[in-house]
Amino acid sequence: MLVMEGIAAGLVGLLAPPRCFFCGAPLRSLYPLCPDCEEDLPRWAGPLCLVCGRGVEEGIDLCPDCAVEGRPYAAARTLGPYEAGLRRLIQALKYEGERALARPLGHLLAALITTKARRHEEAFVLNSEKDPFVTWCLSGSLSVVTCVPADPARLRARGYHAAELLARVVAQELGLPFGNLLRKRRSTPPQVGRPRGERLTALVGAFVARRPGQGKAVLLVDDVITTGATVAEACRALGEAGYGEVYVLACAQAGGA
Ligand SMILES: [Zn+2]
Ligand SMILES: [Zn+2]
Repeated sequence: MLVMEGIAAGLVGLLAPPRCFFCGAPLRSLYPLCPDCEEDLPRWAGPLCLVCGRGVEEGIDLCPDCAVEGRPYAAARTLGPYEAGLRRLIQALKYEGERALARPLGHLLAALITTKARRHEEAFVLNSEKDPFVTWCLSGSLSVVTCVPADPARLRARGYHAAELLARVVAQELGLPFGNLLRKRRSTPPQVGRPRGERLTALVGAFVARRPGQGKAVLLVDDVITTGATVAEACRALGEAGYGEVYVLACAQAGGA
């Protein structure tokens, strides 16, 4: 009887129309956001820091942090600040089993490159208005998309790794191969809720590349950049293995550096 009920519930799930994750509006495809809710996600508007991709004031090239300290990557771009709907989507993808949300988030990440790329091709866009991140992505030097590695214990518990789902969507949309280039040597406690100083040191030496990099340039994907410790450790491991420049795409950037 239980089996029959399970099958019946499964069939109802198949027959019910897919609905928007936020507002519940019925949707015509399996893409889980309606256009209005996608439009409402918090996004950077206006000029971006050329290095880390956070919003900056008009006429400024670098945010206060990038102006005084180096970054372990060549450049990073994110969709927006880690708040409101963007925060909700990322948390549901990471912790609540909502794997389908990797599709819209990965699509929006790839669009950071593809939409601007189309604008770069338009004759009236001045060179000074072109985003160097996009110029680099179009230069042909990019050969692989990867993700920050999964924590082995959390991967076993959840059965999937949010950053990998995102990186696979990005790779598919950009027409580039996905490679699982890094692995985590040991499980570490979650970064969430730890003091900043601890977050910055807890991961040092935790990641290692699976094979030599042979100078290849990498597009590294993560879900959210908080202190930057995870991305920094990934860049360190890629550099140690001989990979070339690392460019970073993440859904959101939390406050602070
Ligand atoms: Zn909606
Ligand atoms: Zn910056």
